[in-house]
Amino acid sequence: MRGTGIILGGKRIAVPGVNVVNFLDDPSVRTPDAHTNPRREPMTLIVLHTVDGRLGGTHQCSGASSRDYTYAHYDATAGRDASWDVTVDTDGSVIWQNDPLVRFTWNANQVNPRAMGFEMVQETDGTTYACQYEALARVVDVVTNAQKIPRFIPWYQGAPDRRVFARLSDAGGAGRGMAGIIGHRNVTHNRGPGDPGDGVYWALAEKGYVPVDYEAGQDRTKNGRVLRPVDIGIASAASMAALLAAAGGACLALSTLVPSGVRYAARATV
Ligand SMILES: [Zn+2]
Repeated sequence: MRGTGIILGGKRIAVPGVNVVNFLDDPSVRTPDAHTNPRREPMTLIVLHTVDGRLGGTHQCSGASSRDYTYAHYDATAGRDASWDVTVDTDGSVIWQNDPLVRFTWNANQVNPRAMGFEMVQETDGTTYACQYEALARVVDVVTNAQKIPRFIPWYQGAPDRRVFARLSDAGGAGRGMAGIIGHRNVTHNRGPGDPGDGVYWALAEKGYVPVDYEAGQDRTKNGRVLRPVDIGIASAASMAALLAAAGGACLALSTLVPSGVRYAARATV
């Protein structure tokens, strides 16, 4: 079926170019209410996941898939203490199964009260898809625009940051004062580099999302100074291409990669 888009605070918002079926569009899409809590703090973080947490290659796009329905149904009905908001299938179709401004899901441990979660369906060998990254990015575009979440992505030494962040730990504040698009792998040592893999971050970088070293505090302006590309450790397009090829899945157009596509982080007040 054709969906009408995402739901934020009860309001439907269309996502151009992506079929997002939400729980109001289709009664078979059930919300995971039993495994959520009322939202009380502002939602400033988007946490990305893969369903199996498996590191794999990137391919262009799968054939038609309805696994997003399967996973979303599982989310709503399984008796385990985990839940998430959005499921992005391997063909780029999307299920929006929770209103994250009303209730927060349990996808990122201590960070949950400030976050919402996206799951990407993946193949058993860990494969994910460029069309999936594109669909996810378009949905994230709409969410960040609606909620005024800075378009930061975790970056370290010229590549997507796989480290676990002290700032996301309970002792470090559990993500308070942080904003942007992070990975489950940045939240806990229990998940590893496949939750999610690097590919989705390269796709977001290509769209102009701003790479920052969160652990070095590059998401914050100090004394009103505007962050510059040199401050945020951007690799050259050539080195990005080499890294992508080494990762076994170079299918993203690299011509528009940073630094030319970088939006300067002048509004980096979080
Ligand atoms: Zn995860």
